[in-house]
Amino acid sequence: MDFTFSAEDEAFRAEVQAFLQAKLTDGMRQAAARVTTVFADKDLAMLWQAILVEQGWAVPSWPVEHGGTGWGATKKYIFGEELARAGAPGLIPLGLRMLAPVLFKYGTKRQKAHYLPKMLSGEHYWCQGYSEPGAGSDLSSLKTAAVQDGDDYIVNGSKIWTTHAQFADHIFCLVRTDSSGRPQQGITFLLIPMATPGVRVAPIITLAADHEVNQVFFDDVRVPQANRVGPEHDGWNVAKYLLEFERGGGGAAARLRVSIDHLRAIAQTETDGAAPLWASSGFRARVSALDIRIEALQFAELVTLARLSRGESPGPGSSLAKNNTVEIDQAINELKLEAVSHYAMPHANLISMNGHNEPWVGPHHAETVTPRYLNSRAASIFGGAREVQKNIIAKVVLGL
Ligand SMILES: Cc1cc2nc3c(=O)[nH]c(=O)nc-3n(C[C@H](O)[C@H](O)[C@H](O)COP(=O)(O)OP(=O)(O)OC[C@H]3O[C@@H](n4cnc5c(N)ncnc54)[C@H](O)[C@@H]3O)c2cc1C
Repeated sequence: MDFTFSAEDEAFRAEVQAFLQAKLTDGMRQAAARVTTVFADKDLAMLWQAILVEQGWAVPSWPVEHGGTGWGATKKYIFGEELARAGAPGLIPLGLRMLAPVLFKYGTKRQKAHYLPKMLSGEHYWCQGYSEPGAGSDLSSLKTAAVQDGDDYIVNGSKIWTTHAQFADHIFCLVRTDSSGRPQQGITFLLIPMATPGVRVAPIITLAADHEVNQVFFDDVRVPQANRVGPEHDGWNVAKYLLEFERGGGGAAARLRVSIDHLRAIAQTETDGAAPLWASSGFRARVSALDIRIEALQFAELVTLARLSRGESPGPGSSLAKNNTVEIDQAINELKLEAVSHYAMPHANLISMNGHNEPWVGPHHAETVTPRYLNSRAASIFGGAREVQKNIIAKVVLGL
């Protein structure tokens, strides 16, 4: 297999690099480097989205007539890789990368015309209402109910772990419209404005002291049937189609390289009491082992890229990539924590949450380490839990 990029691809890479050099300010890079949560802060993400929209590069995978770039898989990969290398803030994927493909496939003309431009301009900000207190990996057991009432549905129930619901003005939701058949039957996909009477958002503060996720309650919420995407009771197929887009976007290996470089910089400064940690061959060996795993991940990404370029689907590669990416990321974060743990300081999020506004007193490079270590634990669960990915690998790759 040939892993080299063509001269045209390399010219495209140079064009992306020149764009990033010109438009991605130091302020934005620094703000992105301070993000310790899964998604960038809303304001930062929307600022960067507006710049990408102006360039015509915000939604490479959308059809060209709706604002897409028409790039093939390789250009999209290079773009993702360069964004990661440059330390650009991530765009919030919930609308642009997850709901949009669903609207292209299942949305009515009116839904596409109404929602897509507002998603791109940032006028609408979406959140995802799939999981419930009793339905996560086993999503089809969801119970939030929608009962027909004239031209509307009346929705009752609750969703949990809803990322950025506190900022969102719209939620796409899976609701139960029929309980008589198998759990996968009788599910319907609805679009609900968060300002509708009866919708209430309650914050969930995580182990990392972040307010990133929420529980959303629906109490007799009236939703027009015109807000349904796809046929009634057939939301399971719509839901599964959306999940195909939940992960990916390329550049995981490039992002991990940025993080391992940060680890190296920390280890060159911090000492084990006598010499810099980097002088310890044992510590260097642990970093090298992770470097090798990143290299392997990059080759796996290129194999997936080759499949996509041939018009094939990623296959079980996306499950392998998800578990590998998360494991490497968590291991890097663990080494960083080990390197700065002797400060034994509470982390910055917790200090500000408790109402203190003292400036950070530790070294700059330690500031994000604890919250990022804690936040990254959640990646074992979201986007398809680790064991669930292993089940897929066991079935599809190992034939067990
Ligand atoms: C930070 C974060 C953000 C999230 N954001 C959103 C969001 O915006 N919208 C949304 O709808 N949801 C969101 N989720 C929810 C997420 O999708 C669920 O947490 C996930 O699907 C797991 O469901 P659960 O929490 O009910 O855990 P469970 O499914 O109960 O899993 C608990 C444990 O059991 C294991 N397990 C489950 N089934 C099996 C099996 N068949 N075989 C072996 N082991 C198994 C899992 O791997 C896990 O370790 C978010 C979650 C987190 C942590």
